[in-house]
Amino acid sequence: MRWCACALVLASACSPLSRLVVSQPVGERYSVRSDGLIDADIGRVQAAIEHASEGLARWGGLPQPVTVYVVNTHEELERAVHRRGYDWLRAWASYDEVILQAPSSWRAGDETLDQLVLHELTHCLLFQRSGTRETWAGKQVPLWFREGMAIANAGQQRQYPTLEDTAQWLSRHPERDVFADGEALSRDFPAEVYAFSLHAWRFHEDRFGLERLQPVLEQMRAGESFAHAFGAALGLPLENFQRDFLVFLKLRAFRSIGRPPLRPDTKLLPLRAPPGD
Ligand SMILES: [Zn+2]
Repeated sequence: MRWCACALVLASACSPLSRLVVSQPVGERYSVRSDGLIDADIGRVQAAIEHASEGLARWGGLPQPVTVYVVNTHEELERAVHRRGYDWLRAWASYDEVILQAPSSWRAGDETLDQLVLHELTHCLLFQRSGTRETWAGKQVPLWFREGMAIANAGQQRQYPTLEDTAQWLSRHPERDVFADGEALSRDFPAEVYAFSLHAWRFHEDRFGLERLQPVLEQMRAGESFAHAFGAALGLPLENFQRDFLVFLKLRAFRSIGRPPLRPDTKLLPLRAPPGD
């Protein structure tokens, strides 16, 4: 499985990271740490960080410096983030740290690596803009919001199932509630859960625009919970948004998106009386 994603880290970094003592700066905002034995990977990661600046600028840039740890293998990544069985996982982000599996170990192309690094740094940006080093982990930003934001900002849409696929998956499993149980479901259904998150994000980005989403982060940083910040900034209770998106999926309302409206001079044929009358 090649879907690359990450998740919220709540445990402190431990042993696999402690031996990454070689630190290389990237500009003034970043440092890349490794064991010094994977130079080719480090050069590619440094380039990907530089390429991420435009995407991060859409959200005002990263307020705080970030350290990117590059571990050599997937096993080291899982040990560093205290998770087992996440074969699809390639990176992990927290407030000011990213842990990245060396791209050569999963044969990542340059575009894929650029997108993954921007994805992870978008997570850091979200955490930094919605909280402080002390409060970010307690904000409980739901998976659909943080993954949808990161996937969309990183341009990774093509890696995930479509709206139609997502609607079909949900209609086959109506008991699955990604809004409420995204974290638990993501382990076994990462593609479906991340696709749902992307499409939910796009649904509300299309509705409100990026300029109205920035205040959601600002309200959280000022102390509000995610649900309250969402409702206050957008003038729409979170549960109403969630209901609207599920109806949008269920009714396949996305099928009408992109159809041109009728031209004003279109002549509509009159309805004919039924034959036999
Ligand atoms: Zn992610």
